[in-house]
Amino acid sequence: MKQTRIEELVGRAREIAAAVIAPNVEEEDRDALWPAPAMRALAQAGLMGLHVPVELGGHGQGLAGLLAIAQVLARESPSAALCYAMHCVGTAVIAAKATPFQQEAYLEPIARGEHITTLALSEPGTGSFFWLPETRLDAAEGGFRVTGTKSFVTNGGHASSYVVSTAAEDELQDEGSFSCVVLDAELPGLRWEGAWAGLGMRSNSSRTLHLEGVPLRPDHLLGAQGDQLWYVFEVVAPYFLMAMAGTYLGVADASLEVAREHLRTRRQSHSGELLGSNPLLAHRLGALWTELERTRRLVESAAARADAREADALLGVLACKAAAGDTAVELANEAMTLCGGAGYRENGKLARMLRDARAAHVMSPTTDLLKTWVGRALLGQPLL
Ligand SMILES: Cc1cc2nc3c(=O)[nH]c(=O)nc-3n(C[C@H](O)[C@H](O)[C@H](O)COP(=O)(O)OP(=O)(O)OC[C@H]3O[C@@H](n4cnc5c(N)ncnc54)[C@H](O)[C@@H]3O)c2cc1C
Repeated sequence: MKQTRIEELVGRAREIAAAVIAPNVEEEDRDALWPAPAMRALAQAGLMGLHVPVELGGHGQGLAGLLAIAQVLARESPSAALCYAMHCVGTAVIAAKATPFQQEAYLEPIARGEHITTLALSEPGTGSFFWLPETRLDAAEGGFRVTGTKSFVTNGGHASSYVVSTAAEDELQDEGSFSCVVLDAELPGLRWEGAWAGLGMRSNSSRTLHLEGVPLRPDHLLGAQGDQLWYVFEVVAPYFLMAMAGTYLGVADASLEVAREHLRTRRQSHSGELLGSNPLLAHRLGALWTELERTRRLVESAAARADAREADALLGVLACKAAAGDTAVELANEAMTLCGGAGYRENGKLARMLRDARAAHVMSPTTDLLKTWVGRALLGQPLL
């Protein structure tokens, strides 16, 4: 089987962003709706199996592919990019050590566009310390029972399966040691709390999920029990961080474009001149482009080096989400100033982008944690 070129996949994503995502984004943001049309179109275009191996019907793409597609989707809707990206990260976690059962039950349906998965790590208790789950994995007849609460589960209530972190009793003593399991949506014992509606990033159904003794067969355990610190740094961190870096680069790019268009077309009546002919405003626009380009180069280099499995790739991977988050907030904020009252319009594109950009700093690993990890890595200290 032949691998589809990433340019071809990005082209399909670009068409969906223009034809399906853009017309729906305002309503989805206003009413905090999960982006069903976008997810359907992405499935129909064969994009859901981005990280499924080619021999199982997928595209076998790595971090650079995820980065490119997340950017394209996020330029129109950061929430749709988040929903797609969390499906991709969940897929990558399943694919990392998939058994023949997991290949058939999850990866092949994902590649056919028939199955959405997603990642449920965060918990209300341990918050941004997502590698310390308190959700319990107890031995039971026929396998295990899973009990606990997961917060902010993106695609919540819409996915077919959930990749969940849990800890057996002996793992609770050992910080950072936990297990990952994949739970089918129709299992008994999954109870959802109400709808998610944030300040920004509103249309992704990031809901709280209670797991009330969910019965689980051993073949739903991902990798070996206690394998998860390996997953955190080898799979979850690189894929999640790259997905988020792509999403926030898309926010920054869209914001710059709105500002550029405003300066190119807004003519004041007293002078008869375009705003863009003012050197101060042109200078400010140029500075924003430079900031975006610098961050994009950092992120693209991190993705390429991690895909090539270069030894010191982790530093760039850790830095990329924090840098893209800073850039997104700065560009959305500055673009709003450049666009004046037009930019400040309620629920206008810039208002949405600014609200969405702010989520970057509170989503784990948070900007503060990531910068600390980069510093620790430089000092040769353990990250956690
Ligand atoms: C839109 C959205 C979608 C999400 N989707 C998902 C998802 O699909 N799956 C998932 O698992 N999670 C998801 N999350 C969860 C997200 O990662 C959480 O917001 C994150 O875990 C933060 O948890 P918290 O709110 O409890 O923050 P807290 O842990 O209360 O932290 C609050 C602040 O304090 C800082 N802080 C905390 N401890 C320290 C410390 N020791 N040193 C320095 N600073 C510290 C943090 O950096 C943060 O800025 C999503 C969140 C959002 C907003």
